Amino acid sequence: AKASRCILETRGLTKDFKGFTAVKDINLKVNEGTIHALIGPNGAGKTTFFNLLTKFLTPSAGTIHFDGHDITHRRPADIAQRGVIRSFQISAVFPHLSARENVRIALQRQLGVSYQFWRPIKMLDQLNDKADALLQEVGLKEFAETKAVELAYGRKRALEIATTIALEPKLMLLDEPTQGMSAEDVGTVTDLIGRVVKGRTIVMVEHNLNVVSSLADRITVLNRGEIVAEGDYEAVSTNPQVMEAYMGT
Ligand code: ADP
Repeated sequence: AKASRCILETRGLTKDFKGFTAVKDINLKVNEGTIHALIGPNGAGKTTFFNLLTKFLTPSAGTIHFDGHDITHRRPADIAQRGVIRSFQISAVFPHLSARENVRIALQRQLGVSYQFWRPIKMLDQLNDKADALLQEVGLKEFAETKAVELAYGRKRALEIATTIALEPKLMLLDEPTQGMSAEDVGTVTDLIGRVVKGRTIVMVEHNLNVVSSLADRITVLNRGEIVAEGDYEAVSTNPQVMEAYMGT
């Protein structure tokens, strides 16, 4: 059985844009060590909800508790420091640096090591070793010297995941991890996410329902800013309100 400690909880989380409510009174609980998927049609409020979690946007009402703390009024940098790391939209990969250099930079960021302090060669070696271990974990061992820009799409995603893991996230927020991928890459990235969770907690927005069904322990379905259903894949996929939401009524 999965760990059942609640690590993230939103209560009454709401975001108004000039009279339009994009996220309305969301009560969501995420248990530690689980994968929680947010799904719903376009405009449902998924991106806005993510932006509230990272404080990219300020909530109009409600609270966010993470890992025992009320983070509702914390600044984005503080939230990142507490281990809430958003991948794919925020954590950019430097295209002209190698895979190893990209992971090493993420490690330096995590360790707070600035350029002049990692000049000692031993420290650099240690960081490179750790970077290589992370690259191996995501299946990029042979691509350590390859520039990010030269990696195939699925491998670039794997590199992004490695740079995210380097930051030692307690909560990984994944924005549509398989968007725009070939079926083969979708399979690779899905396997990879399943493998890297290991006690980490993931909340992801994902449109591909095959990915959701194979990865998510729990699914929240949003429509027009509100939760219309919640449960495991079986429960939400047979829920009439979910079908109605996707029909675009
Ligand atoms: P999703 O990610 O589920 O497609 P979004 O969170 O992007 O949904 O959008 C939810 C709703 O909020 C949409 O109707 C969108 O037009 C609206 N919205 C999002 N951001 C803004 C904004 N900055 N100003 C006004 N309306 C916004």
